[in-house]
Amino acid sequence: MDYRDTPDEAAFRHQLRGWLAETKVPNWKDADSISEAQRRMRIWNKALHDAGYLAIGWPTEEGGQGLSPIFNLILNDEIGKADCPPYPGWINIFPRAISIHGTDAQRERFVPATLDGEIIWCQGFSEPGAGSDIASMSTRAVRSEGGWIISGQKLWTTSVIYADWCFLLARTDDSVSKHRGISAFLVSLDSPGITAGAVELANGNPETGQLFLDDVFVPDDQMLGGEGDGWRIALSTFSYERNPVETEYISELRQWMRSAEQLASDLGKLDDIHVRRRLADIRTRIDGLVYVGLEQLSARVAEGRVYPGEESSVGKLLWTYAGQEMQHFVLDLLGSRPLADPQYNPMGDYIWSRVLSVFGGTEQIQKNVLAWRVLGLPRV
Ligand SMILES: Cc1cc2nc3c(=O)[nH]c(=O)nc-3n(C[C@H](O)[C@H](O)[C@H](O)COP(=O)(O)OP(=O)(O)OC[C@H]3O[C@@H](n4cnc5c(N)ncnc54)[C@H](O)[C@@H]3O)c2cc1C
Repeated sequence: MDYRDTPDEAAFRHQLRGWLAETKVPNWKDADSISEAQRRMRIWNKALHDAGYLAIGWPTEEGGQGLSPIFNLILNDEIGKADCPPYPGWINIFPRAISIHGTDAQRERFVPATLDGEIIWCQGFSEPGAGSDIASMSTRAVRSEGGWIISGQKLWTTSVIYADWCFLLARTDDSVSKHRGISAFLVSLDSPGITAGAVELANGNPETGQLFLDDVFVPDDQMLGGEGDGWRIALSTFSYERNPVETEYISELRQWMRSAEQLASDLGKLDDIHVRRRLADIRTRIDGLVYVGLEQLSARVAEGRVYPGEESSVGKLLWTYAGQEMQHFVLDLLGSRPLADPQYNPMGDYIWSRVLSVFGGTEQIQKNVLAWRVLGLPRV
């Protein structure tokens, strides 16, 4: 295939670069509190939306601009090369799921407000006893007058401590197979009966958390899709979430790359052939990821497919390996320096990079998906 930009894509890239160079947005990673990080995230989200850069690859009837999703990849990649926060990848997870599976009323209620940065979502899929095998979840929704009463516990719910709404799965039918008895719900975190708390990761980051639902009433018009559609909706959500092109991970890797190159330069190590080789290796992995993404997008456009599909697991693995190799390289570069100089503290990012092979489905699960569902290998 031809990896070069078409004239329209080149014009878009050029215009976008100009906008990114002019737009000054505070980096949410430098914020000194979660509430400040959240405030900055909303500003960045809104700035992108106001400039017409969000939901560009969605069909117009679903609130997008009807451009090819390749424009989305260009956006993600260019944001990573500029000095600004990463691409807000949750746009292609939560509001995208609502735009695909929701009613007109749900689209009107949730999609514009999310694109505008007014609503921040979290994802309530995993539970203490259900991670890789989410379908074995225990959270239950029981029919009640005009809606459902939900009870249970969610774990590893990223952003729950500052999110406004949760996109969650609950069991609505015990009499059918575990995958068919699940439904999806849109739940306000202000609902009576909800308690949320942070879970601090090993790097001290309280970004993820847990959610307790104690007889929470959720009206019928906040069920997404029909009763029993939860697993189908979860699979389409995974295909976006695991795809570094659709989420923020291409831009994040590009930003990590810039920091690693800057660090090598600051330490006077750019002339070291071993350092140069590793930098080249990591940069090639990231470029490879972008080209794999481009190939998958081209196939998707040619086949007229809405969802990225299970091939997203290829990207999830490549992004995991590139991110982990990058942070390992930074540790090697610094050697014993962090012990003597607190200015260098790479452990937070290093520990965070270990998480890449867990969230969104572990490395082993991605390999299972590729082996069984993409390559059609037998289960042994
Ligand atoms: C930082 C972070 C953020 C997260 N954010 C969210 C979020 O916002 N929302 C949400 O719903 N979840 C979230 N998760 C949860 C994440 O998706 C799960 O942790 C992950 O799916 C693994 O589930 P588990 O932790 O229960 O591990 P387990 O499923 O118990 O797995 C333990 C080990 O067994 C392996 N394993 C399990 N089953 C198989 C199999 N069939 N074949 C081969 N190996 C297998 C796994 O690969 C893993 O190594 C987050 C997790 C982390 C760490």
